[in-house]
Amino acid sequence: MNTTDSFHERFFRDGRLDDCPVFDLHGHMGPLQGAHLPRCTPEAMVAAMARAGVRLTVFCHHDTLMTPDVANHPNVETVRRYPDHFRAYCGINPNYPEQVRLDVDSFDQHRDVYVGFKMLADYHQIPITDPRNAPAWEKANAEGLLVLLHTWGGSRFDGPALVRECATDYPNAQILMGHSCHGQWQEAAGLAQEFPNVYCELTAVLDDRGAVEILVNEAGSEKVIFGTDTPWFNHHNYIGALLGAEITDDDRRNILYANARRLLAPFVPPELLECRNC
Ligand SMILES: [Zn+2]
Repeated sequence: MNTTDSFHERFFRDGRLDDCPVFDLHGHMGPLQGAHLPRCTPEAMVAAMARAGVRLTVFCHHDTLMTPDVANHPNVETVRRYPDHFRAYCGINPNYPEQVRLDVDSFDQHRDVYVGFKMLADYHQIPITDPRNAPAWEKANAEGLLVLLHTWGGSRFDGPALVRECATDYPNAQILMGHSCHGQWQEAAGLAQEFPNVYCELTAVLDDRGAVEILVNEAGSEKVIFGTDTPWFNHHNYIGALLGAEITDDDRRNILYANARRLLAPFVPPELLECRNC
């Protein structure tokens, strides 16, 4: 590797950089009805991660989110099988309040697995502010856990106004706005800029030219998190979005690893966050 070449050149040539680990904080896993996801097993995902230099993926299994009686077992099993590659969000489905209570109550038995919670409100059709989500929010708030939300512009379940309510009510929960309120990029960036506990996330920025620049210019690159919805999308789609955006290499490093390392530090052993050459 010729390190005198630019960050861009090296990434395009080699597909990964030793001095730039990647942390993907928005992942899923497993097949899903109606979708062709050719690399959705843990083994295939580990291989895909190696190609792009992804050090750690934080995910929530499709079965957990879509099949309540499966609950969080696939998350727990996978992380315990591949502890050097994965951590999980405890998936919450407020259509099943009893299960939410069980998931929250058993969270501490899986501290080696979880870094926080995942809510998929547009799919579950219950607002993030609904009292049925409160046990998860309260635990996240009490312990500074991460909460990965699916957020979407104009949504009555997880749009910007509802994120604002949660950020206000639970100021110690670290809120990752998955999809950054897609289409309402300015509002998402404004929330991340205003609230210390709110972060933008990249998945779906490819839909709009200029979205990365809006997030970085308005929120600051310290408030933007790398995520891909893997195995839905290729890591290089989103690494490419950062390489092609009008932002600095320092911004890219913040988004690809520095912010994630800071957020994960309380929950993950330091050796998983090590960055030897950066
Ligand atoms: Zn997702």
